Amino acid sequence: MDRKSMISENTRKSAELFEKAGEVIPGGVTAHIKHIAPHPLVMEKAKGSKLYDVDGNAYIDYLLSYGALIHGHGHERVYQAVMNQMQTDGTTIFGTPHQLEITMAEKLIDLYPGIDMVRYTNSGLEATLLAIRTAMAYTGKTKLAKFEGHYHGGYDQVLLSVNPDLGQAGDKGAPKAVPESSGIPEYYVENTIMLPFNDLENSERILREHQDDISGLILEPVQGGFIPAKQEFMDGIRRITEELGIVLIFDEVKTGFRLGLGGAQEVYGIEPDLTALGKVLGGGFPVGAIGGKRDFMMTTAVDDSRDILTAGADNTNKKQSVFHSGTYNGHPTVLAAGLATIEVLEQQGTMDELFKKTQDLRNKLETVYRKHGLTMQTVGMKSIFNIILTDTPIYNYRAMDQHDANLRKEIDYELLKLGIYTKPMNRYSMSTVHTEEDIQRTIDAHNEAIRRVLN
Ligand code: PLP
Repeated sequence: MDRKSMISENTRKSAELFEKAGEVIPGGVTAHIKHIAPHPLVMEKAKGSKLYDVDGNAYIDYLLSYGALIHGHGHERVYQAVMNQMQTDGTTIFGTPHQLEITMAEKLIDLYPGIDMVRYTNSGLEATLLAIRTAMAYTGKTKLAKFEGHYHGGYDQVLLSVNPDLGQAGDKGAPKAVPESSGIPEYYVENTIMLPFNDLENSERILREHQDDISGLILEPVQGGFIPAKQEFMDGIRRITEELGIVLIFDEVKTGFRLGLGGAQEVYGIEPDLTALGKVLGGGFPVGAIGGKRDFMMTTAVDDSRDILTAGADNTNKKQSVFHSGTYNGHPTVLAAGLATIEVLEQQGTMDELFKKTQDLRNKLETVYRKHGLTMQTVGMKSIFNIILTDTPIYNYRAMDQHDANLRKEIDYELLKLGIYTKPMNRYSMSTVHTEEDIQRTIDAHNEAIRRVLN
C-alpha cells in the first residue's frame, strides 16, 4: 500500500503538518524514533495517561516519552515543584553550584547500592559517555565491551550492534560489532568487544581473551527495558569483571526507578562500579547522571585548569583527570522535577501498585491474544514489558528473530487508530496514573485490532 492511501481521514491535520515539517526538518521529525508510518501523529495536548493529537483524537499513552513519564503527563506535584523552584530561586538556572544538586545526589546515594558520588549530565547518552570515559581513564585501557542488542545512546562509541542485520552480525556465540549508522569511524568497530547477552560461557571466554585491553563493560540489566538478565548471568558478569579489573557499568537509563527505587542493581543485588541514569530522573525534563564508587567518581574531581579539587580529593591522582562539563548540568528546574517525581514514587505502596497494574495488563493481554489463537507472550519486568509474538523463550537479541514482527506492526497500526499510543514494535511503559478503565480500554482495543488484522 502506498503511503498516501494509508493516511486516515481522522489524522489529516497530522499528515499535513508532517508534510510541512518535511520541508524544514529532514524526514519531518527531530529524531528517528519519532517517525511512525504512514506519518507521525502530531500531538497538541497531554494530561495524565492521555495524549491528544491536532485532529482531536485521544490516545492512552504507553510510550510515555520512552518511559520517562512515570507519573504520566502534567503531574501536579511535579509541576508545583518546578514552579516553586523558579519562583523561590528567582531564576531558571544559576550556572553555579546550588543546593538541589546536593539534595538529589544524597537521594541517589541513599537509593542506589552502587552509588557513592554523583555527577549530572543533560541526557542518558552523556551519562553513558562519561561512564565509559571514566572507565578508560581509570584503567588506562582503550577497548570497551558491550552486549549485542543493547542501546546506550546515539554516539559512535556505542552505536554498534544495537539492532544488527543477522547476515552481518557473525556467530551468536561470538557476535561482531556492526555500525548502526553511516559515519561511524572504523576505530570504534575495532575497539569494541561485542558479547552475547545472557550467555555467560561465551561472554566469559571473550572477556578473558581480551582482558588486557578492555577498560569497561557496559550493559543494560534489562535489554531494551524488557528482556531481563538472568540472575546467574549477572552474578557471573560481576564476578568476572571484578576478577579481570574491568569496570562494570550498569546503564540504568531505562531501568532506573522503573524496576524499583534502587533500579536493577537493587533487584539483582549487584553493585556495579558505575551507573548511568536518565529518563525518570528528570521528571519529564532532559537529564542524565552518572554515579558510582568513590574511587572511580573521583577521577572527575578536577577544575578548569585540570587541578585536582580539594573537596574530598583523598585518593585522586592527576593522571586520572576526566574532563566533564556542560552548561546545563545539574539544572535546578530539572532536579526539582526529578526530586518531586522520586518523592511521589516513595509514597507507601506506589511502586507495588504500579507493578501490580502492569502485571494485570500483561495477564489480560495474554488472555486476549490466546482467545484469538495467536502465539504470544509478554516479556518484561516490573513496570515495562513488550508483546512478543512467538513462544520461543526470549533472552537476548537473537531470540527476537522468531517474533512475528509483521503481524505485530499491523496490530500496532490498528491500535493507533483505536486510541492506544504505542510506538509500533516498542515496549509498553506503565505510569502511576493509568486507571483500571485505561487498562480495560486497552484490552478492548487489542481485541478489536486483532479482529481487524485477522479478518
Ligand atoms: N541508555 C539507555 C538504556 C537508553 O534507553 C537510552 C535512551 O533511550 C539512553 C541510554 C540514551 O538516553 P537519552 O535519550 O536521554 O540520551
